[in-house]
Amino acid sequence: MQLIDGKAVAAQIKQEIAAEVEQIVAAGGKRPHLAAILVGHDGGSETYVANKVKACEVCGFKSTLIRFEADVTEAELLNKVEELNQDADVDGFIVQLPLPKHISEQKVIEAIDYRKDVDGFHPINVGRLNIGLPCYVSATPNGILELLSRYQIETSGKKCVVLGRSNIVGKPMAALMMRKAQPGDATVTVCHSHSKDLVKECQEADIIIAAIGRPNFVTADMVKEGAVIIDVGTTRVPDATKKSGFRLNGDVKFDEVAPKCSFITPVPGGVGPMTIVSLMKNTLLAGKKAIYD
Ligand code: NAP
Repeated sequence: MQLIDGKAVAAQIKQEIAAEVEQIVAAGGKRPHLAAILVGHDGGSETYVANKVKACEVCGFKSTLIRFEADVTEAELLNKVEELNQDADVDGFIVQLPLPKHISEQKVIEAIDYRKDVDGFHPINVGRLNIGLPCYVSATPNGILELLSRYQIETSGKKCVVLGRSNIVGKPMAALMMRKAQPGDATVTVCHSHSKDLVKECQEADIIIAAIGRPNFVTADMVKEGAVIIDVGTTRVPDATKKSGFRLNGDVKFDEVAPKCSFITPVPGGVGPMTIVSLMKNTLLAGKKAIYD
């Protein structure tokens, strides 16, 4: 069994990005600039945004954090989105999800100029991904592709089961695994809460990508010998031994599943760091105007 070290790969990619940014700046180019909007004080969102700002520093990007209290109106938020759309200095920006209930996430996502949508959530980017056109690919699935690629994991012709069908992980992941490219070219099955034969599908899979948010859901009996396991799940579970009072738990029962695998991602330190680095990659593409003028 080989452990997929997302933390190490992410650190390496950030160094690669930083080197490229310094080259761009030395040649008189513009330093990429990522802006992030954070609404309210949700613990998880605070951590994610802080980590994104930190990653920007490591990559040599300019970053701007814009905060609103949880009672911000939808109109105020949409105004800010429009301001960022128009701001020529901002290459890309994100609105950290989830948003408070009184704000329509879909409305906010669709208000973002798709050319600055480095999260890849705008319908234009989602649509382009699905028909194989250049676009901003959503960060978590893109990070997983990068891991498969850097660990030279064969995906062509393999049976891949994606657990979960969310717009940000499951669906784009399935689209990427079935695309005509490497990594890709897999035979993909997507399972969700209505799937009847989920266990059987997993037992036959060469690659399982678990993104359901149910701690320890994937157990050893569901996994074929030699399978590749990518664990996206990050559920906070109470843990008195941790300073924070919680730990992050994956969707895979790591201790019993790991011995059966050829490759497996740990939680934390697997997919998580790659998600942030994928956002950095998209920001670099935005700074270079590599996808859209
Ligand atoms: P989500 O929007 O809540 O979607 C969960 C999906 O799992 C849904 O499609 C749901 O099915 C399915 N599901 C839930 N329980 C199930 C069950 N018992 N059996 C089969 N399918 C089930 O979640 P998400 O945003 O995709 O995130 C999934 C997990 O990944 C979460 O733990 C999240 O924290 C984590 N995550 C991690 C990263 C990272 O960087 N590491 C990034 C994003 C998300 P239905 O559609 O039928 O409801």
